[in-house]
Amino acid sequence: MTTYYTGTVRTLWRLFGPHRQAFVFSLIAQILMSLAAAVPVVTLVWVIDRIRTETLTGERVGLAIGLVLAGAAGQYGFGYLSNRLAWTATFYGIGAARTGTLQHIQRLPLGTVRERGAGDVSTMLTSDMEAVSTYAHHGLPLWFSATSLPVFIFAGLLTVDVPMAFAVAVSVVAALPLYRWTSRYFARRAVERGELLAAANGRMIEYVRGIAVVRSFDRAGARLEWFHGALRDIRDINDRLAVRLVPAGLATMGIVQLGIPLTIAALGYWYAGGRLDAGAVLIFLVLVLRIYTPLLQVAASGEESRLAEAALRRIGAIHDLPTQPAPTVGKTTIDAPSVRLDDVTFGYDPGQPVIKGLSLDVPPKTMTALVGPSGAGKSTILSLIARFWDVNTGSVRLGDADVRDLTPEQLFDALTVVFQDVYLFQGTIRENIAFGREGATEESIEAAARQAQAHSFITALPQGYDTPVGEGGATLSGGERQRVSIARAILKDAPIVLLDEATSALDPINERAVQQAFAELVRNRTVIVVAHRLSTIRSADQIAVVDGGRVVERGRHEELLALNERYARLWAEREKASSWRLARTSPVKSSVSNSSGSPE
Ligand code: ADP
Repeated sequence: MTTYYTGTVRTLWRLFGPHRQAFVFSLIAQILMSLAAAVPVVTLVWVIDRIRTETLTGERVGLAIGLVLAGAAGQYGFGYLSNRLAWTATFYGIGAARTGTLQHIQRLPLGTVRERGAGDVSTMLTSDMEAVSTYAHHGLPLWFSATSLPVFIFAGLLTVDVPMAFAVAVSVVAALPLYRWTSRYFARRAVERGELLAAANGRMIEYVRGIAVVRSFDRAGARLEWFHGALRDIRDINDRLAVRLVPAGLATMGIVQLGIPLTIAALGYWYAGGRLDAGAVLIFLVLVLRIYTPLLQVAASGEESRLAEAALRRIGAIHDLPTQPAPTVGKTTIDAPSVRLDDVTFGYDPGQPVIKGLSLDVPPKTMTALVGPSGAGKSTILSLIARFWDVNTGSVRLGDADVRDLTPEQLFDALTVVFQDVYLFQGTIRENIAFGREGATEESIEAAARQAQAHSFITALPQGYDTPVGEGGATLSGGERQRVSIARAILKDAPIVLLDEATSALDPINERAVQQAFAELVRNRTVIVVAHRLSTIRSADQIAVVDGGRVVERGRHEELLALNERYARLWAEREKASSWRLARTSPVKSSVSNSSGSPE
């Protein structure tokens, strides 16, 4: 429990960054507000005491009125200050927390982020942050004021009569175990609830992203049902929470309130026995409610706090994920655009290596094609070179520099990664190409687009370079998206290019354009490509056949064919498949063009 609370407080502290100070001041103001609120109560006790001892003079009445007014003024003044500070700190603090969390995510190994999914990250940045925000400007200050006032009053009661003060506290102590149980129960369920919420968000995002596929397969009903399933899980857990927590919460409040009859009984007993006089009885009767009312408020607001604590735990867990270690040595430079993997072992799960003692040498300005069966580890090799993951043993070097010794900026400048599934951002085509280089000029954007065989299709669009592309590039065709992404890579002009070639077949016109664009991109650069096209493989300076996480054959096309081993077999299969595809597609294509009347 202790670690649990320190964990959430630590996370809040870490998230609020430079706005912590204002936040702490707001909590201090909250305690001062409680102190000020205690002044009229203490004054009342003092007046009762004066009446009891028959020493209440007109002057003292005036003093009492002054104190009550000052207490009220202090209460409102500190209350205003506390609220203002809490709101400002929360407003800025949550902004900093969102940015800080995103920055942290950026420094995580890319693979880790992908594994968490979009639903998880978006839930964390929206509903989790909202829960923390409400807690920071409402729940936590309330907790501070609602617990400090009873503590002050209890301290005051101790000075009047010690046994009686403890009698008042008995019910609070008795209610504690139940309060702790509900807190723990709720905390656990709240974490579960957060995860279910993230899952539902993920499903919703996927549903919207895949809406075209859903419609074309007429599966809207089934997918919606899949999303509803996630919502049902959330409803069920909320239901379970309500069924258990409402009675438990009421019972906690009930036990605390039992303190009132208990206090009356104790007062009656000690008054009858002559240990307490009427004045003391009156004092306790006045004060007992001032102790219980704020505590009942704390019990009632527990839900809000638990939700925020669960949210903080989820956010804290992300912040606890180790970022990729920063470079350990001083300034390192890349002396030549070569790539070298030296006895590399790597597993997504360290116990199960998918790359096993792999070595590969890619000289500057040459092209290496990685071929091999699916699941052999080809894409993983690219991920390791780009340092999306770190190797378990061995090393990856660009020139003579280990990638782990390079800053993210150096790595970014040295490499361009072009993925199979091209991702374009929401924005115009121009913005998407310019993403490759900060401060790119109009001319350089256009030149890159020309080289990538994209200029003519872009200018043919009614809005040209200002054409908006939907999220993920949804408004462009597959071949067009690829060419825009190649233009982006050409503009970036990094010396080393990592390419995951698309497996999907394009129509002949797009295919030719994409090939030409690739040819421009790889010219004069060091290229490592996970190759699927026969033309790419044939033109490579070196082909590495990857199987079971190792390079099993290496050489040029002719050399490897002459070996008549794995590559030769792979090549024969590919040729068969492609000739099969050509044979199949030709008649289908011509029948399509015949029926639609549009020429290919
Ligand atoms: P290839 O590109 O040759 O098809 P990959 O490099 O994609 O092969 O995959 C190599 C192995 O690693 C496969 O067994 C695959 O299932 C596994 N793998 C790939 N990506 C991940 C990942 N993010 N998490 C866990 N396992 C993965």
